[in-house]
Amino acid sequence: MSSFYQDYVDLRSDTVTRPTSAMREAMYRAEVGDDVYGEDPTVNQLEEYAAHILGKKASLFVPSGTMANQIAVLSHTQRGDEIFIHRDNHIFYYEGGAAAMWSQATFNQLQGPEGLIPADELESRIRPRNIHHPRPRLLALENTHNRAGGAALSRDRLLPLIQVARNHDLRVHLDGARIANAAVALKVSIRELAQDTDSVSLCLSKGLGAPVGSLVAGTREYIEQARVYRKWLGGGMRQAGIIAAAGIYALRHHVERLADDHSRAKKLAEGLQSLGYHVDMPTIPTNMVMVDLEGDADKFIAALKTKNVLAGAMGLKRLRLVTHLDVSDEGLEHTIDAFSQLLSL
Ligand SMILES: *Cc1c(COP(=O)(O)O)cnc(C)c1O
Repeated sequence: MSSFYQDYVDLRSDTVTRPTSAMREAMYRAEVGDDVYGEDPTVNQLEEYAAHILGKKASLFVPSGTMANQIAVLSHTQRGDEIFIHRDNHIFYYEGGAAAMWSQATFNQLQGPEGLIPADELESRIRPRNIHHPRPRLLALENTHNRAGGAALSRDRLLPLIQVARNHDLRVHLDGARIANAAVALKVSIRELAQDTDSVSLCLSKGLGAPVGSLVAGTREYIEQARVYRKWLGGGMRQAGIIAAAGIYALRHHVERLADDHSRAKKLAEGLQSLGYHVDMPTIPTNMVMVDLEGDADKFIAALKTKNVLAGAMGLKRLRLVTHLDVSDEGLEHTIDAFSQLLSL
């Protein structure tokens, strides 16, 4: 293992996890073939298994969550179509404007608390279908919602919004990069949270701890179309069973344990609050802690690094701390201690 990771408690993201020995063993043993020919049995198994978990007919293995979302948007829209999206949604905020390049769709950015667009706000923003307006086509959701502090959104909270979308004949895509975190926090199945959507993505390389990979799921016809777009974007991989095996392992063994990450995040939040830090937690939190500082976030992050703790900025004065597979109770104690030494910053 590299000494970099040994020396630091790395709370920048849940993407930094490294495969466990058991996961590496599964990768080592994976049966493989050429997946662009559809001949990799491990990829095929992962795609079937993920579709089952997500409650969809089919799914497609892709290199990243960004590609999963971009393929999903491409498969739903035509040039000029309108996507209704919260302004803090990953597809709009963190994907480099990629939808402008691939789909050439337009974004109608809305806002609301906890990453949720109020249903009546969506209703009022959907314009009639005529020559003057872009064609209203897609509602994009995210669960858990990253920029809303990892908020887990229950089906009840999403349904009114989805109902408005349906009334106006919009498609619905769910960025479920962390849908497993949402399901575990809400104590419901993953499929329950995905059942009202046309398409859903899932990241294997976040809290689930796989080294690479995401899935996008939907109907068989939709995934056939998505496979074409994956090819366009250069996302077809050959003996990808090596990494798909890690994904199967992650879905089998690393979903329930997300509850540990959530309870550590809660402990961390409580520890920082008792030191006097301002912690902003959503209604149903998961594996993230947002800390609002008096001073500059980058300066605070640099000071934390000298105490061997790594954090990320979520704004000029906002920190994001993410718990994951590679953060232990000792790491947590060390982190709270480091924060106690930086109170004057
Ligand atoms: C990380 C993330 C993605 C993108 O995943 P990459 O694999 O980094 O491209 C998409 N959506 C959300 C909400 C994410 O947190």
